[in-house]
Amino acid sequence: MDTSIAIIGAGLGGLTLARVLHVHGIAATIYEAEASADARAQGGMLDIHENNGQLALKAAGLFDRFVEIIHPGGQATRVLDKDGAVLLDHPDDGSGGRPEVPRGALRRILLDSLPADTVRWGHKVTEVAALGGGRHGLTFANGATVTTDLLVGADGAWSKIRALVSDARPTYVGTSFIETYLFDSDTRHKASAAAVGGGALFAMTPGKGIAAHREPDGVLHTYVQLNKPKDWIDSIDFSEPATALARVAEEFDGWAVALKALITDGETDPVPRPIHALPVEHRWSRVPGVTLLGDAAHLMAPSGEGANLAMFDGAELAKALIANQGNVEVALLAYEKELFPRSAFEAREAVGILDICLGSDAPQSLVDMLANYQAVE
Ligand SMILES: Cc1cc2nc3c(=O)[nH]c(=O)nc-3n(C[C@H](O)[C@H](O)[C@H](O)COP(=O)(O)OP(=O)(O)OC[C@H]3O[C@@H](n4cnc5c(N)ncnc54)[C@H](O)[C@@H]3O)c2cc1C
Repeated sequence: MDTSIAIIGAGLGGLTLARVLHVHGIAATIYEAEASADARAQGGMLDIHENNGQLALKAAGLFDRFVEIIHPGGQATRVLDKDGAVLLDHPDDGSGGRPEVPRGALRRILLDSLPADTVRWGHKVTEVAALGGGRHGLTFANGATVTTDLLVGADGAWSKIRALVSDARPTYVGTSFIETYLFDSDTRHKASAAAVGGGALFAMTPGKGIAAHREPDGVLHTYVQLNKPKDWIDSIDFSEPATALARVAEEFDGWAVALKALITDGETDPVPRPIHALPVEHRWSRVPGVTLLGDAAHLMAPSGEGANLAMFDGAELAKALIANQGNVEVALLAYEKELFPRSAFEAREAVGILDICLGSDAPQSLVDMLANYQAVE
């Protein structure tokens, strides 16, 4: 294929696109803002789903490598009420279709599967110019410039490339997450470790909740979730970690000690994550030579699908380009025709899941949803 391909962003979506193209003998270059693969901790577990993320890994020829990094027992799920009483407890019997893997290990597998010069680290796009005929010129913060025949924005929530196709901007959804970690939990935080169990814990009430995950080596990774105005989260000084933790913990006065300790015993600086989303129906008219994938295309509230969708988009875009070599526009049209309804469906689901977790019927709404999953599996 003579077309030069520039992918902006070495997240899971951009890497999957480059890998599937590579498997089919098509070269692409990924330009990534971060200085190196290790510039930022890639913490957290991702459950990779049979119907999207796993299909992408198969297309990438990396499914066996993925199986090697599965965290055994990670699919266990329980729901507690605010007093710590167990409302639902599903052990991981190995039969679920959503095995958990560490995000960093998954990204590493993709990175290692690409030729060494595929990712250009330290290349933050600062300007993009349409040159006509579907070509684009890119300028990077380090002063470098390139032109490309095909430009793919895989540059995440605050995509720079998105503006070429759409005026949409992510807006705050009314919920903020605050991230905390406990380490060596089986010896040092026994009550919290017992409350979380072997996999995921959800303790949800209308407007506030605690979601925690057991990660390898007894790490407990928590997302405190609060329906609050953006001003509220902005007013907390997270440069003062102890004060910030205390301010967040106040919201959970009266909750079981083992649950509240997931906040008060936090051993890393708490990280605020105000949740933003693009419009559910975000789509654009065909613009020659450029498209988007992953969060750049369809940022949505966390529903457990974002990384899966980004990888699936990457694989699907690669397949469209492979099937239509020599005709980029036909390939992009075919890719976007499937992308838009798929993204809108998942974005609607994400809105629903946020309501199931933090809406007026929580936690029963969550118990019902998880019980249904179990019945279907
Ligand atoms: C709190 C939270 C929890 C989540 N939990 C889950 C989960 O359990 N399961 C799940 O599937 N999803 C989850 N998600 C969603 C998931 O993290 C994202 O949907 C996914 O990472 C999107 O992948 P991506 O490749 O599109 O973008 P990203 O992973 O964001 O990658 C984009 C890349 O582009 C680079 N970049 C950005 N701007 C530029 C630029 N100008 N120039 C060059 N490079 C640039 C960035 O440095 C980054 O490396 C969660 C999200 C949040 C906020």
